[in-house]
Amino acid sequence: ATPTALLVGTGRGAQLGILIKGPQILESTRRVDTVVLDKTGTVTTGRMAVAAVHAADGGSEDEALHLAGSLEHASEHPIGRAVADRAAATGALSPVESFENHGGRGVSGVVDGHAVLAGRLSWLRDEWSLTAPESLRRSAGAAEAEGRTPVWIAWDGRIRAIVVVSDTIKDTSASAIADLRELGLRPVLLTGDNRSAAETVAKQVGIDEVIAEVLPADKVDVVKRLQDEGRVVAMIGDGVNDAAALAQADLGLAMGTGTDVAIEASDLTLVRGDLRAAPDAIRLARATLRTIK
Ligand code: ADP
Ligand code: MG
Repeated sequence: ATPTALLVGTGRGAQLGILIKGPQILESTRRVDTVVLDKTGTVTTGRMAVAAVHAADGGSEDEALHLAGSLEHASEHPIGRAVADRAAATGALSPVESFENHGGRGVSGVVDGHAVLAGRLSWLRDEWSLTAPESLRRSAGAAEAEGRTPVWIAWDGRIRAIVVVSDTIKDTSASAIADLRELGLRPVLLTGDNRSAAETVAKQVGIDEVIAEVLPADKVDVVKRLQDEGRVVAMIGDGVNDAAALAQADLGLAMGTGTDVAIEASDLTLVRGDLRAAPDAIRLARATLRTIK
C-alpha cells in the first residue's frame, strides 16, 4: 500500500469527522466483519432521567428517592447522576458516609443512619442475599420491557423501592446500523444493563444479536471470544468500561463525546459522537484501499 494514498484517506476521514490514529489503521478496517456496539452513550445518548419511583407496599417513594439520591450523589455513573439530580430537585440531600462504588453493579453507603444499597437486582440478591417484593418485580419487569433500567433500592436490610431511569436512543443510530448491515457487517449490542432493556433497544435500532448483563471487566472477554470464533471485530464505545475491549478489538472506535480513556484506547474517533461516521469510516477504508490496488 502506498503511504500517500493512505494519507489522503486519513485526510478525507478528518473531513468526515473521523480522526484516524495512523494511516496503517485503514488496512485493518477493511477486514472487519463484526461490529460490537456498547449501548449506553454509544447507541443511546447516555443522558439518563428518572422516569418513575415505585415503593414496596407500606414504603414511601419520597424516602426512597431521598436515600437513593443522597447515596448516588457520590457516584459518577450517569444512572447515579440522574437519581441524585431528581432527588435534589425534590428536597435537600443528606451527606453519605462509607460510600463504595461496586463497578457495573451498584453503590453502597450510609445515609441518615441507614445502610443503603442502590444497584442491579442480581447484585442485591447474590452479594447481599436480599429478595425482591413481588409488586416491585412486576413494576421492574414492565419498565425493562420498555427499554428502561430499574435501580433497586434497599435500606436497613430490605429491598424497599425501585427508581426507574430512562435513556434515549440517538436518532441517528437506526440508520447507522442499517448502513453497517448494508456493508455486510454483523452488529452486536454489548451492555452491562439488563437483558430485557437491552433487547428492547436492540429491536428499535435493528440489531438481533445481544450480549447483556456483562460486567465492566468482562467486556474484553466478549471481544476475545468473538475473535476466537474467527470474527474480525470492530468495537464502538465511549466509557472507561469499554477501554480494554476497544484496545482488544481488531479496530477500536471511540465516540468523540466519550471519555478520554476510551479515545486513547481506540484507533479511530468519531468526532461528533454520531454513529453514522462508523459506516463512513468502513467505506472510506475500502475506497482508499481500492485506489491503492
Ligand atoms: P453499561 O454497559 O450500559 O455502560 P454499566 O456496566 O456501567 O452499564 O452498569 C451496568 C448496570 O449496573 C447498570 O445498568 C445498573 O443496573 C448497575 N449500576 C452501575 N452503576 C450504578 C449506580 N451508580 N447506581 C445504580 N446502579 C448502577
Ligand atoms: Mg457506554
